Amino acid sequence: MQKEVRKIQDLELRGKRVFVRVDFNVPLKHDGKNWVVTDSKRIEGALETIRHVIASDGKCILASHLGRPHGKKDLKYSLEPVGAKLSELLQKDVVLTDDCIGDGAKSLSQRMRNGDVLLLENLRFHEGEEENSPDFVAKLMELTDIYVNDAFGTMHRAHASTVGLPKMVAQRAAGFLVQKELKYLSDLRDNPGRPFALIMGGAKVSDKMGILEQFLPKVDKVFVGGAMAYAFLKAQGHEIGRSLCDEKQMQLASKILRISDARKVKVFLPVDHVATSAISDVKGKVITDGVDIPKNLLGVDVGPKTLELFQKELSEMKTIFWNGPMGVFEEPAFSKGTFELSKIIAGTQALKLAGGGDSASAISQSGCEDQFDFISTGGGATLEFLEGRDFAGLKALEYRVQGDG
Ligand code: AMP
Repeated sequence: MQKEVRKIQDLELRGKRVFVRVDFNVPLKHDGKNWVVTDSKRIEGALETIRHVIASDGKCILASHLGRPHGKKDLKYSLEPVGAKLSELLQKDVVLTDDCIGDGAKSLSQRMRNGDVLLLENLRFHEGEEENSPDFVAKLMELTDIYVNDAFGTMHRAHASTVGLPKMVAQRAAGFLVQKELKYLSDLRDNPGRPFALIMGGAKVSDKMGILEQFLPKVDKVFVGGAMAYAFLKAQGHEIGRSLCDEKQMQLASKILRISDARKVKVFLPVDHVATSAISDVKGKVITDGVDIPKNLLGVDVGPKTLELFQKELSEMKTIFWNGPMGVFEEPAFSKGTFELSKIIAGTQALKLAGGGDSASAISQSGCEDQFDFISTGGGATLEFLEGRDFAGLKALEYRVQGDG
């Protein structure tokens, strides 16, 4: 028995209440009077699907979580500022419900006209969302004729709105954003154009182990930067001073080095560093002479020779996937390695893909967004998908179809 995931464009939406699970978990700030959205990329990411529902004369019901309100109503996490931003982007009224379930939401959904947009209040104001409780699913069902998932970043979680609800709805499909994510990420996972370079950064080796192991059979070069690199350097016997690294991470790094050696995959590590006495000591930064970091200092970014090396080694690649910063890039004094790497990748001829919030933000801050072929909106979800783990939200969308044999 084969399985397939339908696309939103395959469904007849006219006159139907289309429940669209979106990822509107956007950053907010309080401007003294109101909460306002500071980065609307995730809202913009869902516009194609929303516009399609409107243009198809469907009734668009949008549902999302925002922050971690832990199952209780907390107006700090209200979707009200998201509704205002969405209305501005769509140039259209967006009605926000007081609650995502109950009589109020149900009656608003029944009174919608074709092409209307209704935004449900934060799903996580109810414990039932994260617990995937049948009662909560039943309440969401009252609002749903057709289910669409366009929230790739939450598809790895088995929540009511990502798994419980689609399993109960006869007509279900993937939105445009999810279709795009699945296409690029499955091509990358299953059939990357070779030579293929994997670039990993950030702080936690453990989070990226699965992906490294998954890719080692099909990758040609691995580049490691950020705090992760110190675990690899220490495993090779280098001095890393007071840089972030623990025993467990070092053992994991050792294991990866052993496997990559056996598979003849070259692992490129930093050959120099930006180091300082403390992350707060911006003025005291130095560039190390070589790969070792003096005992009293800690590494906070990759150095210029490393960037030169990475540039040279990346030049002939056909596919590049990048996840995780090269240093403490939130601090401008230590951001150069990450921003320069973004420009180096942008300047190659390769198919350029990136995933994770930090990489996405570095690419946008360095002005390279347009040069990347695809920047995944998911963080943990992207990594889990690439690791080949079961994706609960995707399984819940599947239909069984008769296969050839
Ligand atoms: P991760 O969540 O594992 O992708 O790690 C991202 C975080 O790693 C960012 O907040 C960076 O500031 C941090 N990071 C990157 N390089 C370093 C470093 N050399 N020392 C400490 N933290 C780092």
